[in-house]
Amino acid sequence: MFEQHTVIYGIGVSPGTASAEAVKVLPAPGVDADEPASTDPAADSERIRAAMAAVTASLKQQAETAGPKARPILEATAQLASDRALAKAADKKLTAGAGVTRAVHEAVEDYATILSNLGGYMAERVTDLYDVRDRTICELRGLPKPGVPTIDEPSVLLAEDLAPADTVGLDPQLVVGIITAAGGPTSHTAILAAQLGIPAVVRAEGVMDVPEGTLVALDGGAGEVIVRPSDEEVDEMRRRTERRQAALAESTGPGRTADGYPVSLLANIGTAEDGAAATARDVEGTGLFRTEFLFLDHANAPTLEEQTETYSRVLEAFGTRRVVVRTLDAGADKPLAFANLGEEDNPALGRRGLRLSQAREDLLDTQLDALAAAFEATDRRADLRVMAPMVATMEEARWFADKARARQLPHVGIMIEVPAAAISAKQLLDVVDFASIGTNDLSQYTMAADRMQGALSELLSPWQPAVLTMIRTACRGGDATGKPIGVCGEAGGDPLLALVLVGLGVSSLSMAPSKIPAVRAALHMHDRATCQQMAAYAVDALTAADAKAAVAALANPKLEALL
Ligand code: PEP
Ligand code: MG
Repeated sequence: MFEQHTVIYGIGVSPGTASAEAVKVLPAPGVDADEPASTDPAADSERIRAAMAAVTASLKQQAETAGPKARPILEATAQLASDRALAKAADKKLTAGAGVTRAVHEAVEDYATILSNLGGYMAERVTDLYDVRDRTICELRGLPKPGVPTIDEPSVLLAEDLAPADTVGLDPQLVVGIITAAGGPTSHTAILAAQLGIPAVVRAEGVMDVPEGTLVALDGGAGEVIVRPSDEEVDEMRRRTERRQAALAESTGPGRTADGYPVSLLANIGTAEDGAAATARDVEGTGLFRTEFLFLDHANAPTLEEQTETYSRVLEAFGTRRVVVRTLDAGADKPLAFANLGEEDNPALGRRGLRLSQAREDLLDTQLDALAAAFEATDRRADLRVMAPMVATMEEARWFADKARARQLPHVGIMIEVPAAAISAKQLLDVVDFASIGTNDLSQYTMAADRMQGALSELLSPWQPAVLTMIRTACRGGDATGKPIGVCGEAGGDPLLALVLVGLGVSSLSMAPSKIPAVRAALHMHDRATCQQMAAYAVDALTAADAKAAVAALANPKLEALL
């Protein structure tokens, strides 16, 4: 398969084109389920030691050529891979009858528990320990190395799907494109790729069968992947990007419709570095700072000082531009090691977001204290707004607002991402200052379709008339109170859908910075009355496809070149 030129269509989730050789992210191997119990622990112990030695050697070798960021991590991991106590712990498991891969797995698990309990720096090493486990098991099973490989040359990353933690250290200079077989438009692979400005296509079926090292080209806007492209195709893709960029360069400045109705165009960010990068672009501020992204790889809760420093950096970078900070939205698709309330059967319906903050009030209190301190450090000049994720009831909204206001935080808001909040938007907005619609989760919960399940992407489409009706309901609640409602889910970054959202009444759109130019240009081409007409047609449509077709029919034909 894929020995010849092949075109695959997936879902484009981060615009731009790229072509380079493929490198693969392989899943962690796990214990060999068919492995017999150890009958010769001494010989098996030798095998494990040899595997650990091979892992150590390969990590050291990688460290020698790695860049300054990766080198210390690889060296520290190499040290763990040569840890005698770990080998001895595995021996004990062998004597107790475990096979080689199970022995390694169980020994590492025991070790990880000890490190976690020690806390601090030691607990931070658990991720490296799991890396050693996976590499050693691969060595024992004769499988290629798992995880994101160390990349030295510009490459296109191929993966089944990427976990949020996998994407933390990706360097956009080296990872020039991402293609996944699974995932959907609101999965975190998609969000992070767009955040980093890396062209990406998800749901490209069969892409993991493309051999490592094969030349691949992708168009993250159109969702097109070409395996073994011709030189002409690579050139054509490049020209496509150039044409699009030239068209986009024509519109600059604040977001507004053709007749001047203002719609703030804001950037979604996940780190202080994202924030600094966003301020260099033509954006009016940040409409969603996903603070949980700061801590995806932390074993311990971040301290007050650590958080104050980060938030201060972001506020300083944005000056007097708007900064909407969302308090920790941990749980479900974004698990945090230090905010784990234990296994749940349905994590997306469980104690996540604000519910988790209610169970771990200490985490929220520290975060709000840090935000208040960072705000004071700007002499209260920053345009800081804080909002809570996953709010469902008025009591929750009030509970959060009371806490934020007790710290003199100036603007307090909520996210509307649960249908209950959309339906009760008026009551909720009565106790806060603003709301932001999270269309990713609002689609998931309206349609009862797991956003991590790429196979359900049609149900998850924010073009679904039921989702649009839910958004309209929320906007009507906003109108009734006169308080502003924005959108910060992925829907806001779709130029056509952005017009519908404006027609429904939202006054700001927040998205990955790379998506802002096309949305700005789309707004400039249409007046508000057309947006309202588009919204009315879309909400009344019978299907998602009809909704999109009805809106496209009303759109300026020049918009096509921007998509
Ligand atoms: C959303 O749900 O639309 C949202 C913006 O939040 P997240 O994607 O981080 O869950
Ligand atoms: Mg959400």
